Amino acid sequence: MGTFVGIDLGTTFSAVAFINREGNPEIIPTDYGRTVTPSVVYLGKGGPIVGEEAKERQALGEVEIASFFKRSMGDSQFELFFQGKSYTPVDLSALVLQHLKQVAENHLGENVTHAVITVPAYFNNMQREATIEAAGRAGLEVLSIINEPTAAAFAYGMRPTQGAQTVLVYDLGGGTFDVSVVRITESEQQVLGTGGDHNLGGKDWDDRVFGYLVQQFEETFGTDPVGDDFNQLLVKTEEAKKSLSVRESVEIRVQHEGHKGLFTLTRSQFEDLTSDLMERTQRLTEQVLGEINLSWSDLTNVLLVGGSTRMPMVRTYVERMSGRPPLTAVNPDEAVALGAAIQAAMDMEEGSALQTPLYGLAGRKKSVDVISHSLGMIAVNEAQTRYIISIIIQKNQPIPSRQARPFTLRISQRGENKLEVYMTQGESDDPMTCAYLGRYVFSDIPALAARQAILDITYAYDKNGVVNVSAVERSTGKPLSLSIEPLPSDVPDRFALPPAQNVAREHLTVYLSFDLSGSMSGAPLTEAKKAAHAFISQCDLSSTSVGLISFSDNVLVDIKACQDAKKLSKAIDGLTIGRTGGGNEAHPFDEIHKLLTGVTGVRYALVLADGVWSNQSRAIQQAKRCHEAGIEIVGVGFGGADRKFLQAISSSDEHSFFTNMNALTETFSTIAQELTEEGSISKRGGLRF
Ligand code: AMP
Repeated sequence: MGTFVGIDLGTTFSAVAFINREGNPEIIPTDYGRTVTPSVVYLGKGGPIVGEEAKERQALGEVEIASFFKRSMGDSQFELFFQGKSYTPVDLSALVLQHLKQVAENHLGENVTHAVITVPAYFNNMQREATIEAAGRAGLEVLSIINEPTAAAFAYGMRPTQGAQTVLVYDLGGGTFDVSVVRITESEQQVLGTGGDHNLGGKDWDDRVFGYLVQQFEETFGTDPVGDDFNQLLVKTEEAKKSLSVRESVEIRVQHEGHKGLFTLTRSQFEDLTSDLMERTQRLTEQVLGEINLSWSDLTNVLLVGGSTRMPMVRTYVERMSGRPPLTAVNPDEAVALGAAIQAAMDMEEGSALQTPLYGLAGRKKSVDVISHSLGMIAVNEAQTRYIISIIIQKNQPIPSRQARPFTLRISQRGENKLEVYMTQGESDDPMTCAYLGRYVFSDIPALAARQAILDITYAYDKNGVVNVSAVERSTGKPLSLSIEPLPSDVPDRFALPPAQNVAREHLTVYLSFDLSGSMSGAPLTEAKKAAHAFISQCDLSSTSVGLISFSDNVLVDIKACQDAKKLSKAIDGLTIGRTGGGNEAHPFDEIHKLLTGVTGVRYALVLADGVWSNQSRAIQQAKRCHEAGIEIVGVGFGGADRKFLQAISSSDEHSFFTNMNALTETFSTIAQELTEEGSISKRGGLRF
């Protein structure tokens, strides 16, 4: 039986921690007595050598050095060659983990078998899986993979606190920038939102110093100083940068081919050289706050994590924005590993099914984390004219998360029916700009008589951030066979072309809701019925379900959403004034909410009004509840309808139409057409009255 540790597997430095006898997390010192180990591997003769010694060799000008490979985790194309052997980022990370395991075993005098490993919050499932694989190769069983800012918040949150706090974790490391907002209470730690950039970190600040030195050298000697001593120069620039955190200016010596230069860099010059990088962190931080509707004033504290937050410019910025100095209660180099050790202790306890806590951790908390990017899939619009991204799990959803969405697939009676799911990551709805995480091919789709199959596709995001994809054919309830295949090399270009015939489309459910108060009597009702018939005939009922609701003093569901044109026609013909009273007391939004809750796919309600409703504020309030639940409300008004009110109940201005009685059919047809072709109301607002 072995023991466990928490590991911060960093881009530039890594750290390992354990839980001591007192139940507190503690950093395991390296053989050099330091708290962190450089994530650097020497792979020349006598290698591999990991950590401090490898970094020293790098400083001495050795070239057989691998560093910054964490930036390429999950990239199947990335390989480095040393002594005729190829190394992937997984191989290199495994070497670092093996080294850390050894350091921990020497210190603890026990076998280390289990670990919690941290990753940047935005790491995708391939990067997380690559991390798990590296751990396996190093002989470590992964208890869980947790996000770095969450771990840092853990280390901070275990301290006795006064009341609930909302803490922004600003984590600027060597190669990555992460920002998370965490709500910490006595019993729970909940991540509210997260963001960042995995290509922004201290290395970019180094590069600016490097560029400055190259330029100065060229100006002085007319030649470029970059040659065999490239690695040495890299180390010097990083040292200079660090010095500027405590000094106002540094002098840097650069030698190359007999030329010797001594260049001065002041802190304020350095801040000018890097001001755009600082602004990028500002934008990303404010984006996260915006996404969860918080502002700087809602934060109790800002926690700085990562070596690069030692730069005075970071502190100045945080203090200026939040109005108070950032927290320094936790050492930025150690916080992540300490938090990982805490999580490891909790995972071990959970796994051992013991009633009493094993490790006597003070102030244990339940932890809830979130997904850092929306996950979607490539589908086609209803008209099958172009590819779209359909989001299945939204960003900032608590994890683990499991979401399903229905898609309609045209199936052939002969030959094999297959569905290819391309998993996408990102907030963009443009297939050309998102990231592709995998290709999942479902087969054994039954050859249904209907020629259309509704497939419920489920994404399950587990606590480690690994995603499982599954699909069920709805009419048979049969799970489909799955094979995971490599992404073709023409992704995303293939999605710029018009789609083929049998590709999945999102299922659409629409409720037509008619205000049948007394003022609709006669011609208005006749026109409304005509418009409803036109709507049905425009819809592709193979991938759309339509329902009908009428309301005036009461609400009546004339027909629940279905795909049967005959039944729908009959229900439309049956619309009469008086069945729901004749006044304007009721609104349909409670019913719409009820009917569409739990319905997956795209959900719309089209609300027709010709006059002023009695309880407008209540109606607006309940319409907003629908908007928040992701149900799109399209308001169509004519006659004595109130324009402002119509806008307030509609999901957006694009969803609000004001027309006249004789144009109702045209309006309904156009809406049906837009929904059918685009799967949404056009943002271009092609139809305005
Ligand atoms: P981490 O990945 O959190 O270990 O952060 C490492 C990064 O922090 C590297 O880019 C270091 O150059 C940077 N760093 C460490 N100490 C300092 C310092 N005193 N001033 C500026 N940057 C630092």
